[in-house]
Amino acid sequence: MNQKTENRYQIITNNNRRRILVINDVVDVDRKADLAFEDFDAVFINVIDNLMDRIMLAIRLASPLLSEKCRFKPCYVTKRLTGWLGKAEVIVDGYASQPTDSNMAQGIEEIYANMRRINFLLGTEPVVSHAEEIFRLCRYAISRGQYTFSSHPTPGLSSGYMSLYYYTLWFEGQENQQLEERDFFHAQLLKLGYIRPTRFIDKIHVCPVCRQSHLLFFECCPKCGSSDIREEPVLHHFRCANVSPESTYQWDGELRCPKCHHTLRHIGVDYDKPSSIFTCRQCDESFMYPDMRVICPEDRRTWTTDDLLPIDVTEYEFTPEGIRVFANYDIRYTLSQAGFYGYSSMRDFLAYLRMVSKAEAKQADLFVVARFYVFDPAMDNIVAQETTPPVVKAMSRFFNYKSALWGNNYYFLCRASNGELAQVQSRMEYELKNELKDFQQRHEGFEFELVDTYVYHQGEDMEQFIHRIEEDRN
Ligand SMILES: [Zn+2]
Ligand SMILES: [Zn+2]
Ligand SMILES: [Zn+2]
Repeated sequence: MNQKTENRYQIITNNNRRRILVINDVVDVDRKADLAFEDFDAVFINVIDNLMDRIMLAIRLASPLLSEKCRFKPCYVTKRLTGWLGKAEVIVDGYASQPTDSNMAQGIEEIYANMRRINFLLGTEPVVSHAEEIFRLCRYAISRGQYTFSSHPTPGLSSGYMSLYYYTLWFEGQENQQLEERDFFHAQLLKLGYIRPTRFIDKIHVCPVCRQSHLLFFECCPKCGSSDIREEPVLHHFRCANVSPESTYQWDGELRCPKCHHTLRHIGVDYDKPSSIFTCRQCDESFMYPDMRVICPEDRRTWTTDDLLPIDVTEYEFTPEGIRVFANYDIRYTLSQAGFYGYSSMRDFLAYLRMVSKAEAKQADLFVVARFYVFDPAMDNIVAQETTPPVVKAMSRFFNYKSALWGNNYYFLCRASNGELAQVQSRMEYELKNELKDFQQRHEGFEFELVDTYVYHQGEDMEQFIHRIEEDRN
């Protein structure tokens, strides 16, 4: 029996002879030479620390999504952390007081039984592209028997695959690409028959530019636009037929009609409240219906309700064929990767440029493409087309760039808005150079050089741009 005892982690065996990796402190599981994928069947996170960041890091490093050695394995967390995990809760299978608890033992068996039922391929290659990362999220959902998800990310409306999607490596400020990618993925799954709609959930209204659903609504004055408005009932006095705001009736703590000066006593007998009226505190305008002003906190633009874009939120489910291709990972051959960020073939890289340049110009988008010359003597030994080149693996943390290797040219693409061009370009060059330099230090004979940086402005001729970045690539 593979029994290991150490302070930071240990492997124990439960009643069903499942080996459980118990994590007592932050452990970089993937880098522990004495821990192999085959050594354990499930994970129990038992980290207690005053610093929540430390607990989160411990979970990340042993998570069924982000760790290669823990990939898709059941993951339980100590009961003491119930309610503290936030977003990370979607990748936790449950809580237990001890790793040998019967509820945890039963949960582990159920997860493995479901995987057996759908012929789930447990271990997979390390993820180097964004497409693969999304496949991994779907595969995780399927491994846990979550076969339905909704079409639009609306927290609270529906969970499942979409709440998992929040767990991807997108950086803040990239919501646009994230949304585009998701739409692309969705359309492809539908076209291939891997998902089908099951029911209508709701119609929501989103920002027409960034398609965010988190909007701020303000009732405001139709004359001056201020939201400093006050609503009050309008009173109708039966006796003299006077109709005016309630404040005009207020008299010495009583309600007295401003027209006939009789005191009002009983609602429904003396008077009623047929409607209400708004008054603006800023310009004194009175009106029956306030305007509605909508602000999108994301791009800080102001809209009217008519400007907003209505979107149907639909629930989808994986079809049996969809479950099959995700479970055995055939998805990577059948789904086009053109629409995804991360590493792809040069053909998909160019298809992406063409696709996005043709899309409605929603924002002043720029493409920045950096081209590096790379030479890796080790590449000569790699024959199989299937193998990911080592330099690509080393660069895989840059999910926020789309990249492609073509002969000795390594292209990186990044999107930016007009005002941030200089900043994006220098950050991109700095990051990539540093990472390539790091790779060079560990790989003898590797050479690289930044050849050029190209900027595409929305509206320009894409074919000409592609011609430019391809030029003299030999
Ligand atoms: Zn917006
Ligand atoms: Zn006003
Ligand atoms: Zn009256």
